[in-house]
Amino acid sequence: MSKNNYAVNLLSQHTHIFNCPVCHCELFVDKRSLVCPHGHRFDLSKHGYIHLCLQAAGTKYDKSMFAARRMLSQAGLFEPLAEAIATRIVKRLEPGEHDTIKILDAGCGEGSHLERIHSLVRQNAALPTLGIGIDLAKEGVAFAARSYKELLWCVGDLANPPLASQQFNVILNILSPANYNAFHRLLCEDGIVIKVIPDRYYLRELREALWEGHQRSFNNDRTMQLFREHFEHIEVHRVRYTYLLEPGQVQPLLAMTPLAWRAEDSKLNHFAAHPPTKITVDLTVMIGSKR
Ligand SMILES: [Zn+2]
Repeated sequence: MSKNNYAVNLLSQHTHIFNCPVCHCELFVDKRSLVCPHGHRFDLSKHGYIHLCLQAAGTKYDKSMFAARRMLSQAGLFEPLAEAIATRIVKRLEPGEHDTIKILDAGCGEGSHLERIHSLVRQNAALPTLGIGIDLAKEGVAFAARSYKELLWCVGDLANPPLASQQFNVILNILSPANYNAFHRLLCEDGIVIKVIPDRYYLRELREALWEGHQRSFNNDRTMQLFREHFEHIEVHRVRYTYLLEPGQVQPLLAMTPLAWRAEDSKLNHFAAHPPTKITVDLTVMIGSKR
């Protein structure tokens, strides 16, 4: 079955997930397209993602960044994070009226976080699951759709997401900007939002090597406060571990993170020539619900 067919099948099973980005009406599947009642039509790409963004937005991310992130994700850099999140999802989701647990990754990039978390939830949840990834970066979404055809992928703008209201049981927002008003609209009444932000020692070895003397004092208070203002029943978990860095992973690490993009060449070269054997991953996971 072509990748395109997988997506058509998923869309036919789960109608009304997407909204028209022009008139905001529901979109319906018509052959290999989504169509709204006003005739706005959006074709599935040959890789199986749907492009629901009116302008082709440029982003600062390119293919090499997504490839680097994918490589390190698949090598397990974020595995303890995925496990922590999947465990919380399974624990917090109430067995309600839903027939499918819908997990939206808002800012999915190349898709590996969603793929891994969705897969772990599916193994442990009592209900069927569906993962939907959305991102403005077309290169990331195309990469995701080529690799993970059992999930739905969409190029769309989180400022005004082309998604139906109150559809999602879980909204993931991992190391990516949030739009809490939109998350409220999209979330089921008993759904949860899971936001992941870097904590004090995230990629510490890299930060110290590239930015020693230039580091601003670390403070997550404002971000956490904003989350608390929008959601209820907040849980905060810190996920901190070290990852053994293999020599072949040093360049991908530098390509993956904005921390390295603006650093001085001499410091980058020194880091690459004398890489650490391990790297610290330190993240805060915030979970909240609408009521
Ligand atoms: Zn329309």
